[in-house]
Amino acid sequence: MNTSQQTFVIAGAGLAGAKAAETLRERGFDGRVLLIGDEPTRPYERPPLSKGHLTGEFDPASVFVHDETFYAEHSIELLTATTVTGLDLAAHTVTLSNDTTLRFDKALLATGAQPRPLTVPGANLPGVHYLRTLADADALATAAASASSVAVVGAGWIGAEVAASLRTRGLPVALIEPATVPLERVLGREVGEIYRKLHAHHGVDLHLGEGVAALHGDRRVEELCTTTGTRIGADLVVVGVGAIPRTQVAAEAGLKVDDGVVTDEYLRTSHPDVYAAGDIANAWHPVFGARMRVEHWANASNQGAVAAANMLGAEQPYTHTPYFFSDQYDFGMEYTGYCPQWDQVVFRGNPDAGEFLAFWLHDGVIAAAMNANIWDVNEHLQQLVASRAHIPVERLTDPDVSVESLLPVMR
Ligand SMILES: Cc1cc2nc3c(=O)[nH]c(=O)nc-3n(C[C@H](O)[C@H](O)[C@H](O)COP(=O)(O)OP(=O)(O)OC[C@H]3O[C@@H](n4cnc5c(N)ncnc54)[C@H](O)[C@@H]3O)c2cc1C
Repeated sequence: MNTSQQTFVIAGAGLAGAKAAETLRERGFDGRVLLIGDEPTRPYERPPLSKGHLTGEFDPASVFVHDETFYAEHSIELLTATTVTGLDLAAHTVTLSNDTTLRFDKALLATGAQPRPLTVPGANLPGVHYLRTLADADALATAAASASSVAVVGAGWIGAEVAASLRTRGLPVALIEPATVPLERVLGREVGEIYRKLHAHHGVDLHLGEGVAALHGDRRVEELCTTTGTRIGADLVVVGVGAIPRTQVAAEAGLKVDDGVVTDEYLRTSHPDVYAAGDIANAWHPVFGARMRVEHWANASNQGAVAAANMLGAEQPYTHTPYFFSDQYDFGMEYTGYCPQWDQVVFRGNPDAGEFLAFWLHDGVIAAAMNANIWDVNEHLQQLVASRAHIPVERLTDPDVSVESLLPVMR
């Protein structure tokens, strides 16, 4: 195929978009590549924003996906501060906020997600922050420098990490969450309880089983009132109540959208020349036999690369096992798997000592696994989960059985 006359457009210059652009060039695509993002900066990675950026141990140069010169060196036309406002599938065009219309041969949607807004009275008061972008993180770090007390709404990944980072800075932090333990939706009660103890140990004022009823303040936020009537003084409120995929352009174009842009296992949307990757993609996973939308770093990186390969005709199914990591205080973990439900969680090692492996079992199959403060095992855990193996619990929990040796069927 002569591709030099072709134009590939990538909407969204985050991690997935940047990896896709890189992969197109790596695989020899010699046509035009446009990487279009509405943020003012070149693509960057978000994980440091809730960690080192807030604790102060942060090298601003380390967040970027590529060096500043990378895009020009690879003839990737990076348009920053430019929004893709429309997609015309029949005409094969995108329209941009600068009133340009561009024709494309293939397009990738990598527009990510945005924070779910808090909708209680007072939610728009000054002093209420969200965290998605570098600009959000800068604003939050500046506000934290002069704050006297913080309330974090939501103990999911963003809320739990922000609470840990701001507590590490020495700020008084209250964490408000309707579930009974942090991270309960993903990790369940047993492992969520480990995070509850971790935050309690570090002095976070935990309000579990409570939602937010309202925020109060005269000219800016001063107090948070919970659904059980508790009043918490806070001049800085950080909201982490989930993210919503940015599907507007796709939906208006008539692509199939259902909690994200629906794709097949090749990350192809309901239009054969349009692909989707990263937080926005609700992709069919052939190994787990389910559609899943994964909001994690590794998924954005890997899907960007696979989508680009498939835009070039590779027909490569996306089969990576979901993976994510989190760092809170001195507690680091990696989790791998797809586990909407489970029957049992078993541990290897002592969870109270902060170093352990956890396995989520469903119908005897390892649906997910986590290594906490134990390193260099996650690759084996990913293989174990992908194998859908039944391993006796006694072997899973026995520290004398190496994780690698649990994989006999894989070799
Ligand atoms: C604070 C924070 C901490 C995180 N920490 C971790 C972690 O520890 N571990 C982990 O595994 N994952 C973590 N994640 C998740 C991970 O960062 C995301 O999964 C990843 O950023 C998704 O990449 P993406 O490219 O799909 O989307 P994004 O990174 O959101 O990039 C999409 C880009 O497209 C832009 N855009 C949207 N609409 C348009 C449009 N119409 N036109 C042009 N541009 C548009 C957006 O502004 C954005 O720049 C964290 C996320 C956040 C916010």
